[in-house]
Parts: sequence; structure tokens; C-alpha cells
Amino acid sequence: MKYCLVPFGCQMNISDSERIRSVLESLGYERTTVEEEAEILGIVACSVRQKAIDKVYTRIHKWNTWKAERSLTTFISGCVLSADREKFVDRFDLMFTINELPKLGEMIRHHGLVTPASLRAAENAIHGPAVTVDDVPTPDPRKDYWKIAPHYSSSFQAYIPIQNGCNKFCTFCAVPYTRGREVSRPSKEILAEVQRLVNAGYKSLTLLGQNVNSYGLDRNGSEMSFPALLREIGQIGWKSTQRRDGGGRFWVYFTSPHPKDMTDEAIDVIAEYDCLAKQIHLPIQSGDDKVLLRMKRNYSVDEYRKTVEKIRSTIPEATLFTDIIVGFTGETAEQFENTRAAMREFQYNMAYIAMYSPRPGAASARWDDDVPHEEKRRRLHELSGELQEMSLACNQCFIGTEQTILVVGTDRKDGYLSGKTEGRLIVRFASTDESLIGRFITVRIEAAAPLSMEGSFIGV
Ligand code: SF4
Repeated sequence: MKYCLVPFGCQMNISDSERIRSVLESLGYERTTVEEEAEILGIVACSVRQKAIDKVYTRIHKWNTWKAERSLTTFISGCVLSADREKFVDRFDLMFTINELPKLGEMIRHHGLVTPASLRAAENAIHGPAVTVDDVPTPDPRKDYWKIAPHYSSSFQAYIPIQNGCNKFCTFCAVPYTRGREVSRPSKEILAEVQRLVNAGYKSLTLLGQNVNSYGLDRNGSEMSFPALLREIGQIGWKSTQRRDGGGRFWVYFTSPHPKDMTDEAIDVIAEYDCLAKQIHLPIQSGDDKVLLRMKRNYSVDEYRKTVEKIRSTIPEATLFTDIIVGFTGETAEQFENTRAAMREFQYNMAYIAMYSPRPGAASARWDDDVPHEEKRRRLHELSGELQEMSLACNQCFIGTEQTILVVGTDRKDGYLSGKTEGRLIVRFASTDESLIGRFITVRIEAAAPLSMEGSFIGV
């Protein structure tokens, strides 16, 4: 019996999908990517944009029409707003929050399905002590969601959720309504997962959370802080590099942090440990104080500037990434120019720039979306041009240098592989040797372009 999982949205949903896969496979289901082959069809939903929600409706409509011809069970999890939840309840067979994932086996059985694992157990029982299907427990009973060992989708890069939910309530965002308030995962579990992955030879680990650097604040002193967690991970990295075979190197990233919670202490710890990657994602969203106030971001451009100055003075080699929204409700031409000025000042290596669109359930969805679409496009285009220039100037500085990169896959350019520097800058190099994927190699940078570089392979 097969299942098919369709995840929408961000890394958090991909990470949740890895845990859903584990549970379904522990129940005996086999994965397929072909929806038509599956008896269980699930969606990990994203409520960030109406478009993503519309995709859920299209998918479930299609799946429900298939039910006339064959037996099928559908479920939905992930980020779902309460208004959508009410509409989905009649369309899907099962609906659960990610915290309820450990009970998925029970839910499937209550829905009237005999899972493949139950079936196998019942067949075995014919030759052993009497057992009924209802007696068969979930094969791998777990106390909660965090404890579920994920089915990692890569053998060298992994996401590690450290926190779920958000208390910030930025006015453009619905996460606090879909995922609830911040809950930090116990540090013991996080460190054990990091250690396991390092032992298994993973090279790139990303700590995940909606507001990753407020880690521990919800535990009122009974849990370590984010800098303390980074320090513990740094220690794992330090010990790992002492291994005799020298193969214990790895890079640790985190996303997404909130500028308000980016402490000097966290930056000092990143500087201190080699395994803590020198790449910082610091979403500015806007370079105008009035817009930041309406976004309820809780920092001013000047406060943000102080954090960037601390990063630059403590870790000069760190790359800086950001998120920017253009055309937020009420954003004037002058306010947009302030964002452009901020972008030039902070010299980002990468910026994820989005045109504002009201997100269902978020506070700003009740306000006028009054910047015309064409103007938003123009602003997006202008900032993308700025980014290209900045990135090209930065990448040109690497020409002639040797860089360590982690090879992540084949490149779009035929006969080339693609990798990333510690600062997550993209480097392609001529090679068809796919055994290099998942390994650190050294390349000499020969050419630069906006957002990528080209190098030649030197050695492993
Ligand atoms: S910090 Fe703001 S943007 Fe980030 S998840 Fe929380 S509410 Fe959303």
C-alpha cells in the first residue's frame, strides 16, 4: 500500500514532511510520488498566500473525484488557518496539527483502515499468540512530535526543527495563527539529533524555527538560550574535528531569526566556533521606520544597523542575507527609497524580495492593499537590480582565490556540478563526477556573475 505526500511552502513544511514520512513508513506504507498510485494522499499546507491555499482546494477536489472509482484516504496538516480548517473538515478524511502527528496511526485505524503493519502483525499472529488488529499498537509509539526520527530527504544536508510557532505577530504574517505560540524543543533532543547526524557524516545542518533565535524564551529559564544552544553545537563540532580520520567537518546554519532577538552573545558564539557557518540571515523587511512600525517588527533601522555593525566587526567574513517586502500597504515612494538606501548600506549577498500580498488571517489583510500591482513590480525590479550589482561586486572579489565548497548536486549547465561556500554563495565547476556530491572540495574561483561564481576543481 502506497502513500503520496504533497508539501507546500517553506523549509519548516519540508521538515514536517520528513517526520510524516517516518510515521507513515513505520505503519508499513510505501512512498510514491505518483498521486494516482497512492491509497493515502496527504497535503502539508501553507497559508502564506491565497495561491497556496487555492492549490489545496484544487488538489482535494481532484482526489475526491477519484474516490468514486477507488478506495482512498486523504489528510491535511501543516499551516492551516482556522477559517480554512472549517472548510477542509468536510473535504479531507483526516486533519491534524503537526503536534498531533504521533497519533496519526491511531487516526488512520479509527478511520477504518487496516494499516499494512497491522495486517502483517495479524498474519504473524495466526502462527503465534492471539492478537487482534485493534490490539496492535502504533509500531513505533512516540510521546510527541519532536521525538519522531525524520526520514531525511538528503544524505548530507538536514533540517533540524528547534522551535515551532511565533509570538511576534508581524502584521503581514499569519504564522502565529496557523502554528500557534512559540514552543522550544528540548535542547537534549536537538543536541542528540545534531550528534546523530554528525556521526552519520552529514555536512550541512540547518536549525529551523519561525523565530529561531528566541529559542528557550518560552521556557522561563528552564531551558538554555539560543547562544547557549549554539555553543553546545559548537562543542560537538570542535570534538568532531578532532577525529583521527579528519572527516568530521560540518557547517551549521539557522533560519529564520528575528533582528530584535539577534544578541551580541549569539554573534560572538558564531565567531568562536568553526562549525557555526559564517552566514547570517537577518530579515529587514523594510528600510523605513514608519513601515517597520506598521509591520510591527519591533526594531528601527538604526537598531538593525547596530546588529549589522556587530556582525561586520566580529565576523568580517560573514555573508549577509535578508528578506524584503515591497509595496506593503501604504508604502510611499519615499519609504521605498529608504529601503533601497538600506539595501545599499548593508550590502547584502542575497535578498529574498517579495511583492506584498495580503496573507489571509494576518492583521494587514484587513487594510487597503493600496500600492498598485504595477508599482510593486517596478519596486521589485529596482531592488533586484540593486541586488544583482551588489552580488556581482562581492563575487568578483573572490576571483583568483581558493574556496571550500560543499557539492550539492548537478548544475543546470551541462557537464557542471554545483556547490555552496560556507557563506552559501553558489559556485559551479566543470565536472561530471557525481561521487563528489555531498563532499567538501576545494575550487579556484575563475569567474563571477550576479548570484553565482564559476570555479575549477582543485581537490578534495
Ligand atoms: S517573526 Fe513575524 S514574520 Fe516571522 S513568523 Fe513571526 S510573525 Fe511571521
